[in-house]
Amino acid sequence: MKLQKPKGTQDILPTASAKWQYVENLARETFKKYHYGEIRTPIFEHYEVISRSVGDTTDIVTKEMYDFYDKGDRHITLRPEGTAPVVRSYVENKFFAPEVQKPVKVFYIGSMFRYERPQAGRLREFHQIGVECFGSSNPATDVETIAMAYQLFAELGIKDVVLHLNSLGNTESRMAYRQALIDYLTPMRESLSKDSQRRLDENPLRVLDSKEKEDKAAVENAPSILDYLDEESQEHFAAVREMLEALDIPYVIDTNMVRGLDYYNHTIFEFITTVDQSELTICAGGRYDGLVEYFGGPQTAGFGFGLGLERLLLVLEKQGIELPLDDSLDVYVAVLGSSVNSKALELVQAIRRQGFAAERDYLGRKIKAQFKSADAFKAKTVITLGESEVEAGQVTIKNNQTREEMTVSFDALINDFASVFAKVN
Ligand code: ATP
Ligand code: MG
Repeated sequence: MKLQKPKGTQDILPTASAKWQYVENLARETFKKYHYGEIRTPIFEHYEVISRSVGDTTDIVTKEMYDFYDKGDRHITLRPEGTAPVVRSYVENKFFAPEVQKPVKVFYIGSMFRYERPQAGRLREFHQIGVECFGSSNPATDVETIAMAYQLFAELGIKDVVLHLNSLGNTESRMAYRQALIDYLTPMRESLSKDSQRRLDENPLRVLDSKEKEDKAAVENAPSILDYLDEESQEHFAAVREMLEALDIPYVIDTNMVRGLDYYNHTIFEFITTVDQSELTICAGGRYDGLVEYFGGPQTAGFGFGLGLERLLLVLEKQGIELPLDDSLDVYVAVLGSSVNSKALELVQAIRRQGFAAERDYLGRKIKAQFKSADAFKAKTVITLGESEVEAGQVTIKNNQTREEMTVSFDALINDFASVFAKVN
């Protein structure tokens, strides 16, 4: 059916979008406190920007890319995640230059695309709020970025999100671990899922991340990456843990967590919650000290996270969290008779110009129907405007809760609605 939305997409309708805006605004305010600025990169990128940086053996690149050739035969992909495009932009705009203050802290809010099988919490177009911090390898950066996400969840009133933490160490540590994992998994090769047998050859750490039962069983006693961290990697991880503890941010160590993207090193983390008995990651991120260099910039430390907005909103709903949304209207103008149509327009415009939200009747309906609309729109006050009101230059304004009324001059509404509103409300 071509006249319906594509599979895995959603219309975000006004009642829902009010919640989206609330969460987005809260994120913006929170990020501002941590001195982040907004970045907006294109929705589509050259395929190569994503393919190797995210990892050409990752699920995102092998199975989930929404890619196509454009009319100029360029290989394009809708972005599946935010970090690679931001790093591309960081290098392209020479943000690494010494005159640019470090660290550079940016956030984004926008659509991401992955060709996945749609299900609860999994869409083909979904939305992420993400942050990236460049130029600090200080473990305090890891911790304050995690703390920022934690603060956001706390302010939203979300319960039962658990911070899962792991370290992949530096390149040397990771290579040593990779070998140990190959040695451990190779004898059980036959018991692994088809996908994981392939992963074992291409990207053995991925096996740890598999959701298949047989793979989960196989990796249960796998060696822990933490036993393979060299001194530098151990120190970094120990510092992160100490600082999280100093800030009273609870966490669990999860040595089987490796993340779905290849560019991470040192600290990685996920905030996981349970929805309908299954675990759902709502926010995930970590350190990526090699990515700027990969894009042709100088060696630069990086740390960031991506947070799935649909999943966050799903959790809010499942946990019965009511957001303090204000969908009320300051004034509803009931319009009696077509002769006052233009006067009603002048009135609502004057009220809106003075900073209030106003709605009116446009349809010449009976007064009762108009009052019903005022209630449905949660109007705080109702002004009734008919021919006699216009002639007298006086109208009544009613408090729609207490039903108390007040008569005021039309001019008072036009010139100083704020005082009228304060008196009646
Ligand atoms: P998963 O293991 O659940 O597939 P992922 O490792 O692919 O997650 P990331 O690439 O780290 O996820 O993306 C960060 C966040 O974006 C996820 O934690 C999740 O909240 C959200 N997300 C990822 N894929 C989807 C999707 N298809 N639909 C909705 N949200 C998604
Ligand atoms: Mg995924």
